[in-house]
This record gives sequence, structure tokens and C-alpha cells, in this order.
Amino acid sequence: LRIELLLTGDELTSGAVSDSNGGWLASRIAALGERVARFTVLGDDLEAVAGELRAAASRADLVVVSGGLGPTLDDLTVDAACAAFERRAVVDPAQLERIRQRFASLGRQLTPNNERQARVPEGAEVLGNDFGTATAFVVRHGGCELWFLPGVPRELRKLAEQKLLSGLRERLEAEGVFRCLRVVKCVRIAESHLDHAIAPLLQRHPHVRYGTIAAFPEVQARFVAEGGSADAAKTRCEALEREVRQVLGAVAYGGEADTLASAALGAIRSKGWKVAVAESLTAGLLSAQLADVPGASDLLLGGMATYATGLKERWLGVSPELLAREGPVSEACARAMAEGILARSGADVAVALTGLAGPGGDGSEHPPGTVFAAVAGGGAHTHVVRERWLLGRNEVRRMAAALGLDLLRRRALGLPA
Ligand code: ATP
Ligand code: MG
Repeated sequence: LRIELLLTGDELTSGAVSDSNGGWLASRIAALGERVARFTVLGDDLEAVAGELRAAASRADLVVVSGGLGPTLDDLTVDAACAAFERRAVVDPAQLERIRQRFASLGRQLTPNNERQARVPEGAEVLGNDFGTATAFVVRHGGCELWFLPGVPRELRKLAEQKLLSGLRERLEAEGVFRCLRVVKCVRIAESHLDHAIAPLLQRHPHVRYGTIAAFPEVQARFVAEGGSADAAKTRCEALEREVRQVLGAVAYGGEADTLASAALGAIRSKGWKVAVAESLTAGLLSAQLADVPGASDLLLGGMATYATGLKERWLGVSPELLAREGPVSEACARAMAEGILARSGADVAVALTGLAGPGGDGSEHPPGTVFAAVAGGGAHTHVVRERWLLGRNEVRRMAAALGLDLLRRRALGLPA
């Protein structure tokens, strides 16, 4: 299938908002084993959008259009579709009623421009919208299907999941193409090393396509297997996935639905532990990532962002002598921070981060980008890992948070740090 995306909105072409709909759609389409042939981004310009719709319809089998279905005059996608395919715009009475009821249920007054959102090109298949106001629809032109979805990312995603992606899967399966996607998410391994480890396995799996993606601060391997049935595709994909996980060992932390934080918390939960965090250079980044995971409040007791040396002493009990002798960026300080937060919080396991995010140094022997991460508790000796990254300030902070999460995960799984 040739698939194209058309992302519209002045907010995109002016740089006020960066596109997330295109990337999301492409990743969901890739999960079905298809790829997007072309992304087009256009501002709110009726002529340009109409011209692009016509051109895309002549090239592609499927076009997904995002944005411009709203109530305001700069929302001109319906008019552009009408101009492109020589149709009239008509008000869909069922959609008008849906919008009226939506407003009534929110206690809001319908303004005439909201009625604009019930307009669709004549002859379109009306999808409606269970998640917002704008009316989504499909236009068929020649051999091409054009899906018009709202620009609001949440609405676009829900509608795409509900109608577009399930339909696409059915369409592929009707053609006898069954695919299975598996993602192996990894941390603390370079993309080149990941590729080097996986490449020798591929020969024995000719029906599986493979690629790596650098998803900073992590890397992923993606596998798409094809087969004559859903089971056949799944069996092929899982056979390779098993070998890959075996070869990669501890660096492979999860699959598509996992994040490093969810993997760490999952491991901690399986132990029945509680966790606490002490952060210097990341100042709360690691705890915030743990808190992104639903249910974190059962497991995360809390964290301290001890940026200043004085707070490392007063809040974590790091001794002034140690700080004077070793400095706040040191193996000894990381160890004392982790043991301090462990003792003070009553957690079962704790992690601490200290380091130099840069760009400046601290006058010590450590260059910017140096990080010490310590994990304490969980029935094993405190362990400290030293890393040095040649990255910018915030990349170093993100790498440090990932390292800390990984140390927690490994400790809870009984893997070496
Ligand atoms: P409505 O106006 O009813 O919200 P719409 O279909 O008209 O829906 P837009 O007006 O184009 O959508 O965009 C609505 C919101 O969604 C805006 O805040 C915009 O910044 C955001 N948005 C639109 N397109 C994208 C995109 N490709 N990626 C991320 N955000 C987007
Ligand atoms: Mg709008």
C-alpha cells in the first residue's frame, strides 16, 4: 500500500507547535508492517491543501489528513476537500445533533461557527467523533481513501485506533497478509552494538524484517514478521525475539508497552519493595519518570533533590568530611547519598545520582558529563557506577536518570549492575 500523511495547520509551519500526529501515525502504521511513503506539512492555505489532496489522491492508496476541522475560519480542510474533488459541502444532520448534545452536556452555548463542524463533503463517509467536536470523515476518490481526522492529538489518536488502524489491519488480512510486530527496548547499549549483536541471528529468520531506532536515551530493535496467518506471523516474530533477548541479556528491558520506569517499578513491585530517590544533577527527573507510571504511588515513597552540598549533608546525612575529602561528584558521595535516603525514608531500595551535567566543570578532576549512580538496599551491597558522556547538559541529565532507573531495575531482578 502507498500511504501518505498530510499534516495541516499554520501552527506547524510557523514552528509554534511541532508535529506529533505524523510520527504517531507512522509508528502505528509501521506496527502493522506498512510504511509511510510521504509526509507533507502545509499551512492553512485552501489552494495549497486542495492541490496537495488531489496530488496525493493520484499517487497513494491511503491518505491520512490531520487538522483544520475546527470551528474557526482558518479551519478550511472541508472546503479544501470539496475544492479538490469537486463536491459541495453539506451539513450532516446527525453530526449537528451530536455537536448540539455535546455542548448541552457540557453546559455550553452552541455558536453558529460550531455548526461549521457538522459540514462534510457531499458523499463522504461520516465517522463522527466520540472524543471531541470536529467531525471526522472519509472521502473515496479514484482508488484512494482519504481519512480526515482532527488535529488535536488525543482525538486523532483515539479516532485512528478506533476506525483507521483496525480497518487497515483487516484490509491487509483480507489480502492474506498477516504481520506481527515486536519491539525490544534496550538501555545502556549503543545502537551499533545492538545491531552487531542481532545481525548474526537474522539469517535464520528470513521472514522477519528488522531495524534499530535510537530513541534517546534508549535504543530499540523492531521486528516485523509476515506469515499466511496471524499465528504464523506471531510464531516467526517470537522465535527471533527470544533469540535476541537471550543474546542481549540485561540490556533488553522491555517491549512496546514498557518504559524504563515502568520496567523498574514492575521489578520493584514483584519484590514487594518500596523505593526512594536522592538526586543531585537530575533534580527530580528520575522521580518524575517513576511518577509517570500509573500506580507509582504504591511503590515510590519519595525523593530528595539535593542540589546544594549543604543539603546533601543536612537532608541525607552525607558527612562534611567526606564531602571535603572526595567532593560532591564522587563515588563516595553517591554511595552516601543512596545509603542516606535509604535509611531516612525506610524504603527497601534506593538510588542516588550525582554528577556534572556541564557545560562547565567544578574545578575537580572530573570532566563535565561525569555521573556517579548508586543503588543501595534490596539485600545487596551498595553499588556505584561511574559514567562519562560527551553530551549536552540535558542529555547528560536524561542519561543519568535512565542509568538510575536501570540500576533499580537490575537490583530488583537480581541482575548485575
Ligand atoms: P479543533 O479546532 O476542533 O480543535 P482541528 O481539526 O481544527 O480541531 P487544529 O485546529 O488543526 O485541529 O488543531 C487543534 C489543536 O491540535 C491545536 O492546538 C494544534 O496545535 C494541535 N495540533 C494540530 N495538528 C497537530 C500535529 N500535527 N501535531 C501536534 N499537534 C497538533
Ligand atoms: Mg482548529
